[in-house]
Amino acid sequence: MSITKALQDWLDGGSSRMGQLLVRREGGGFSLLHHEDAARADLAAFHDPEAAREIARYDDAGKYRPLKSAPNLRHGWELSLEGLEDLRLALDFLYPAALGAWVWRREGRLAPVDFRRTAERQTGMYEIVKRLSDAQADALAGDFCADGKCLKTILWRIAPGRPVTTLPPAKFDPEREAMSLLCAEACNLYVAAARKVVR
Ligand code: SF4
Repeated sequence: MSITKALQDWLDGGSSRMGQLLVRREGGGFSLLHHEDAARADLAAFHDPEAAREIARYDDAGKYRPLKSAPNLRHGWELSLEGLEDLRLALDFLYPAALGAWVWRREGRLAPVDFRRTAERQTGMYEIVKRLSDAQADALAGDFCADGKCLKTILWRIAPGRPVTTLPPAKFDPEREAMSLLCAEACNLYVAAARKVVR
């Protein structure tokens, strides 16, 4: 199924929340905003899906957001979009690749990658993450990937038969939201943090 069709079905099923976003139907199109801004009438108006790229870049304090799935999406804006393709594009700027991962998982095509395989692939200054022990990787996930820092649902394990154990069960439930943000492989920021642990 195409991503756009899956998005259409999701909306037709009455869903409206993705991460910290709220999707509203607006005339023949849609609007996107921070879900905590639903009752506000003083939002800055945007109309181009490309604006989502800039909205995603900084938090409320103007600080750069290296991790787009961190729960620090800025407030105070509303993005009006003409149709489904524009909505899809804006969602991809706000939560890169999240829609595709969600569709792939539903179709059984998303293949999580164990941290050991991710570590094996590292070269150069990141090569030392191969030396991170299972216990260290577990402890790092418990801190770095907690919902207070990243909203994604973890699908990867540390190694075959060795799951992450330092986070609550909901953190591993891909059905916990109507469209959970999925993490199929430890991200580059986790790998960078792992490097610091080893050093
Ligand atoms: S590894 Fe996944 S869950 Fe952890 S911080 Fe990175 S994106 Fe979030």
